[in-house]
Amino acid sequence: MLVKILGSAAGGGFPQWNCACPNCRALRAGTFHGKTRTQAQVAISADGRSWFLLGASPDLRAQIEATPELHPRCESNEDGIRQSPIAGAVLANADVDHVLGLLLLRELQPLRVCAALSIYRVLTEDNSMFAMLQRVPSQVTWADLVPGTTFPLLNPAGEDSGLRCRALSLGTHYPAYVSTRRQSDLSRREASLGLFVESPSGKRLAYMPAVPQIDDVLLKELDASDVLLFDGTFWSDDELIHIQGSGQTAQEMGHVPVSSAEGSLSKLARVRRPRKIYVHINNTNPMLNEAGPEYRQVRESGWEIAEDGWQFDL
Ligand SMILES: [Zn+2]
Repeated sequence: MLVKILGSAAGGGFPQWNCACPNCRALRAGTFHGKTRTQAQVAISADGRSWFLLGASPDLRAQIEATPELHPRCESNEDGIRQSPIAGAVLANADVDHVLGLLLLRELQPLRVCAALSIYRVLTEDNSMFAMLQRVPSQVTWADLVPGTTFPLLNPAGEDSGLRCRALSLGTHYPAYVSTRRQSDLSRREASLGLFVESPSGKRLAYMPAVPQIDDVLLKELDASDVLLFDGTFWSDDELIHIQGSGQTAQEMGHVPVSSAEGSLSKLARVRRPRKIYVHINNTNPMLNEAGPEYRQVRESGWEIAEDGWQFDL
């Protein structure tokens, strides 16, 4: 299985358009020791020809153009001019930075999108713009994703890629655009999922862009993985409040912080099997600064910090 990290930042990207935090300011000034990043996006493939997106980021158009494997391949005249190696997407939640990219794929391309029923309902029943994905019968096929159940990743024609996926319910936190009244109508356990993808050779990728808490069940699952892409949104719980002077805590936004005794760095210290990589990193996170103590602490703890363009073979 080929895994490509097309984007590694949290919502807003790095730098974020309206942000003048120390990281964004230094990056724009050219004095930052670290990389720019687009919003989190992972693509996977069993054969290098047919690709599945994990989420669909608002930066997807530029991410596709930056990735030759995802460019259209029209190899003969019969193929016409419209084609895409992207066969479909799997959604872990309904966050804007995780689903907005679907609207960028609206040019009548057949795609198969796997989503939990609650996520499907929020997108297609509450947001009329998503009707752009259903203009013709052969456009987007929505496939029901049931947390805890293993399902094959199929292309729009129903052919099996050989990849197997399973979602784990992680949280009950819906995005702010989903009203409290609407939420009472949805399954809480479908709000935020972690995704496991197994390659034909039995290797396992864990993709966890939003993790509200870490319990023993999750630790066991993660330790059975070969590569772990984990929520690195915030360094500390009060990071946004500290920088902006107001706002929500990391926990309130559905993200366990990296640091502190309850943070992922400490809690996942006993997860030893997988290659551990932080992804979905907010622009305010001090670990983005490769000259800083937080970066050093993360690297010395055996973790890596994802950068756009990374890829590996599982
Ligand atoms: Zn910033």
